[in-house]
Amino acid sequence: MLKWILFALCIVGIYFFFFKKPKTIHEKKEHKKDSIMLECATCGTYVSSDEAIIQDGKYYCSKECAQC
Ligand SMILES: [Zn+2]
Repeated sequence: MLKWILFALCIVGIYFFFFKKPKTIHEKKEHKKDSIMLECATCGTYVSSDEAIIQDGKYYCSKECAQC
């Protein structure tokens, strides 16, 4: 009888093994922010739009430049 219990446990184990596969293989990292290069209004350095600081409608590469 013990054999059958072990057998059943095996089946359940396999069952869970297959059904517990991560479903998130399709993990799309939606990093669709296209970064544009923007020119700093103070020093003229090009900085990506992700990092640029916008102040008074102008783009700056850093806080130092934005404060000028
Ligand atoms: Zn700058």
